[in-house]
Amino acid sequence: METEYRVLIGGELVKASTGETMKVINPANGTTVGEVPKCGEAEINEAVESARKAFPAWASKTIAERGKMLIKLSDILLFHREEMARMETMQYGGPLRKTSGEIPASRELIEYMIGVARSKTGETLPIGPSCNAMTVREPLGVVGLITPWNFPFITVLAKLIPALLTGNTCVVKPPSTAPITALKLGEFTIEAGMPPGAVNIVTGPGPVAGEALVKHPGVAKIGFTGDSAVGKRIMSLAGGTVKPVCMELGGKNAFIILADADIDSAVEGAVWSAFYNSGQNCASPSRFLIHESIYEEFNDKFIAATKKVKYGDPLNPETMMGPLAYREHRDSVERYIEMAKKEGAKLLLGGERPDTPETKDGFFVAPTIFGDCQSQMRFMQEEIFGPVVGLMRFKTPEEAVNLANDTRYGLCASVWTKEIRTALVMASKIQVGTVWVNQHLAFSFEIPWGGCKESGFGKENSTLVLDEYTMIKHIWIDLVGTPATPWQNSLK
Ligand code: NDP
Repeated sequence: METEYRVLIGGELVKASTGETMKVINPANGTTVGEVPKCGEAEINEAVESARKAFPAWASKTIAERGKMLIKLSDILLFHREEMARMETMQYGGPLRKTSGEIPASRELIEYMIGVARSKTGETLPIGPSCNAMTVREPLGVVGLITPWNFPFITVLAKLIPALLTGNTCVVKPPSTAPITALKLGEFTIEAGMPPGAVNIVTGPGPVAGEALVKHPGVAKIGFTGDSAVGKRIMSLAGGTVKPVCMELGGKNAFIILADADIDSAVEGAVWSAFYNSGQNCASPSRFLIHESIYEEFNDKFIAATKKVKYGDPLNPETMMGPLAYREHRDSVERYIEMAKKEGAKLLLGGERPDTPETKDGFFVAPTIFGDCQSQMRFMQEEIFGPVVGLMRFKTPEEAVNLANDTRYGLCASVWTKEIRTALVMASKIQVGTVWVNQHLAFSFEIPWGGCKESGFGKENSTLVLDEYTMIKHIWIDLVGTPATPWQNSLK
């Protein structure tokens, strides 16, 4: 009998009112990891109501008081770090080598956010001697946080921590294919003594539980990370209650290698950023733009280095690449591989399911590289979200910029060159939220993350995330005693 997990509503761990559950499958071998409640509108309504009740007391605490509770939560997480990392790996297939670093990283996130939240202030405004005007930051109220499966645990914390620290109470809707570490986090909030209702975690299908949360009139804002099509649906639903949203959506990111680049460094950066987490990263590069003079050399070295990526059982600490997160996603990635072949791209490596004893029962796809691609090929335009990349040639930096911008997405890009002036000029012209120079897929909590175009808007991390979860209120104080209005003399 697998473990049956409970959702967290109003400080209680409960089942779905219907008693229904959803199975969570280990994508490395197809076995069931556990079952979680299949909740719907009823549970979302209860969670929002409990968050609404908890809000006044939570909002009236100081940031330091809220921060102390989050440090306690983090201590509990650190105590359970091995168990949490294994569960994260088993529920979506990210290698232990990746997931074992995420609880320590979450501690760093919490410490950083407490520091910057305490230093965020309002302003005083110089508008005249007869009054004093200032801005103050206030929490929004109950916020809804809807998260994806590709970083199931850390994407919850990236939203939850700034939202809580700034005085909001929260309802989290984690992904249905990988919700268990979010539910464990919910259990730990009870152990940490957090007030009932400050954090609620409710599992259930996106189109049911997720949409109920988005439409709920008692929810002040939605923080969302996920697919661009789902983001568009959420934006249209949020319009019904004029609800602000923060959208961290998909990407189709360019990796641009200029003629003078250090090719060995570019190859190392390419293999890492394209195949880390099986390419299931919004920020992974999938369009490689290579100067024609180094195209062949880069290809040969990229293919040789990719062959060294160790894939297999994600619980093996040596494994670099695990399976794709669930069966239907593996099938979707394979459809894109077939599409690329039909569109005339040249298969240089991979393209098949690896056939080893470790991978035979899981949802694996080998690292896959296509050459001789054209920007308008459909597989070069749509987000595949798997270990599949396409290589294109360019002649000039201007052409590379045009190719990089030839997508409806605008999340990130990288430029590889020793000529920093050229890199800066290109960075200013590429329409994305992040440009790395001689690097790709490097993050730090100090750095704002978020895209433009159909990759979304709003920022995560850095001090800017605090703006997402606070409202600026202006307060005007008369210093004279009789407010000078244009009607003043007419009223005598
Ligand atoms: P989805 O958009 O499919 O799901 C994300 C969350 O939204 C899940 O909790 C899902 O629930 C929920 N959801 C689905 N449909 C609805 C709906 N109609 N209303 C409300 N909620 C809904 O994304 P994935 O989980 O597949 O994640 C992959 C995507 O996330 C990729 O496009 C990737 O690029 C993007 N992403 C972006 C990042 C960024 O920072 N820009 C970072 C990480 C990922 P359920 O699981 O039940 O369907």
